[in-house]
Amino acid sequence: MGDPQKKSKDYPEGGVIDEAGSARKYKTGDWRSQKPEVDKEKCINCLWCWVYCPDNSVLVEEGKMVGFRYSHCKGCGICAAECPKKAITMKKEGN
Ligand code: SF4
Ligand code: SF4
Repeated sequence: MGDPQKKSKDYPEGGVIDEAGSARKYKTGDWRSQKPEVDKEKCINCLWCWVYCPDNSVLVEEGKMVGFRYSHCKGCGICAAECPKKAITMKKEGN
């Protein structure tokens, strides 16, 4: 419990985002415990995974799914759940 004698200015500042677009600098993928891997043999490049990824972490080049931006992928598994071809598998991080 906090000290009732303390005022808000007595506590240290929390996470301060002091410039626009700074989310690019935070490697949110560091939190991940599982990572997606794609089987390109099964993938039909429908890009459903790109549509559903909440972290803009599915990489697309020339209309084809080419992998993941692991620096920001949090490993939520939505891409794997939504892939119609079950081409994405979630693997334990570090294995
Ligand atoms: S949803 Fe599945 S099949 Fe579609 S592009 Fe992504 S990995 Fe490939
Ligand atoms: S696991 Fe989640 S954050 Fe990572 S690529 Fe798939 S949908 Fe995006």
